[in-house]
Amino acid sequence: MAEPDCIFCTIAAGEIPATVVAEDDRTVAFMDINPATRGHVVVIPRAHSVDIGDVVPEDLGAVAATAQRVAARAKDVLDAAGVNLLNSSGAAAGQTVFHFHVHVIPRYEDDPLALPWVPEAADMEDIKAVGEELRA
Ligand code: AMP
Ligand code: ZN
Repeated sequence: MAEPDCIFCTIAAGEIPATVVAEDDRTVAFMDINPATRGHVVVIPRAHSVDIGDVVPEDLGAVAATAQRVAARAKDVLDAAGVNLLNSSGAAAGQTVFHFHVHVIPRYEDDPLALPWVPEAADMEDIKAVGEELRA
């Protein structure tokens, strides 16, 4: 079920650190280390699948439900004015980690983000602090 060389499988297994903001039997949501905006979260199924063509419907539904929870938290506690949900499936679509995932990207009035974004590292302490706020 887990792919040995998959970074998101290692996060799901708790083998490398991540700032987890929500989890359940099927999914884990954690802070993206290159956030497009403040509070950018990645939601994954625990079980490895590659992309939208590969994920089983039960995991797709579970990821959607967790993304909905995280989006609501972003609006409630971060005062996000909107949220983008984004999945990139395939290198041609910009996918860089080949374990299915949905980005939850909080949007703020007049933020300068243009999608798709150019990934940039941010301060890890800031990312952890936002993660603490988002954790339900
Ligand atoms: P994508 O380009 O759609 O495949 O998205 C992969 C995302 O995973 C990027 O936004 C990366 O910043 C993010 N990412 C990669 N490694 C990690 C990690 N160890 N912890 C958190 N986010 C990560
Ligand atoms: Zn994986």
